[in-house]
Amino acid sequence: MKAQIIDGKAVAARLRESLRERITRLTEKGNPPGLAVILVGDDPASRVYVNSKRKTCAALGIYSEEHALPGDIPEQALLELIDRLNADPKIHGILLQLPLPAHLDADKMLERIDPAKDVDGFHPVNVGKMVIGLESFLPCTPAGVMELIKETGISISGKECVVVGRSNIVGKPQAILLLREHGTVTVCHSRTANLQEVCRRADILVAAVGKAEMITADYVKPGAVVIDVGINRTADGKLVGDVHFASVAEVAGWITPVPGGVGPMTIAKLMENTVISAERMK
Ligand code: NDP
Repeated sequence: MKAQIIDGKAVAARLRESLRERITRLTEKGNPPGLAVILVGDDPASRVYVNSKRKTCAALGIYSEEHALPGDIPEQALLELIDRLNADPKIHGILLQLPLPAHLDADKMLERIDPAKDVDGFHPVNVGKMVIGLESFLPCTPAGVMELIKETGISISGKECVVVGRSNIVGKPQAILLLREHGTVTVCHSRTANLQEVCRRADILVAAVGKAEMITADYVKPGAVVIDVGINRTADGKLVGDVHFASVAEVAGWITPVPGGVGPMTIAKLMENTVISAERMK
């Protein structure tokens, strides 16, 4: 294998450890960081993510509470819960686990969260601040990806960066963060012509598509940094990314594994945002 592995587990562990002292300081002052997680319905993948967030909070001494709501909860009840959490001084971060059931408008719900408690960085106020370069909560997955790229020691400035995927939670904010670091950024999506050719230009390639092992070696420039955001389950239950790891690792310079790449960083960044929020509110 040619590529060096970017060990997301190790980078995330380091980030979590760096938070401990800050959490202790807040707790000693009677203001332990607090995260409220709202889970609507019984999507199994969402359940796994929520459990993992709760465990990480417990391990770090971050107060957390979970609000598991039935899938048919009326819109008004969810809005009222968000209002209550917005007003609760124990809570510094509110996370609304997506996706929501079809009868609920995710944008409307996210907008109801107080931007000062929006530790996912999805509120339009925080998105707007991120775009114009003001201080804000950065969305956890793209912010985690930035740390993984930094881990290679390669400067983003002036590099060809290609992001495959343009969702509001990964692809779009990823492109903005790369641009903020002076990358030359191209964003691809399902209507991009000559995707393979565009990807092959990338010095830094971020795949956030949700299609198992779609990015094969033919999409990758030799020596490129390849970051795999995808989490896909194959028919036999195996967890794979959007990148075909075995073939791409023969071509790329750096690559993140799945699992153990971006996933742990997302949760560590959520913890960091919650601590930052508590520090701002103390
Ligand atoms: P979405 O489904 O919201 O977005 C997928 C994007 O990929 C869309 O912009 C879509 O284009 C594009 N796309 C789909 N098919 C193709 C194709 N054949 N060629 C080019 N582009 C394509 O997904 P998310 O952004 O929410 O998530 C992406 C992946 O990342 C998923 O596997 C998800 O599970 C994972 N994920 C992982 C996280 C982590 O912590 N590691 C966190 C969040 C997500 P269009 O806009 O035109 O439809």
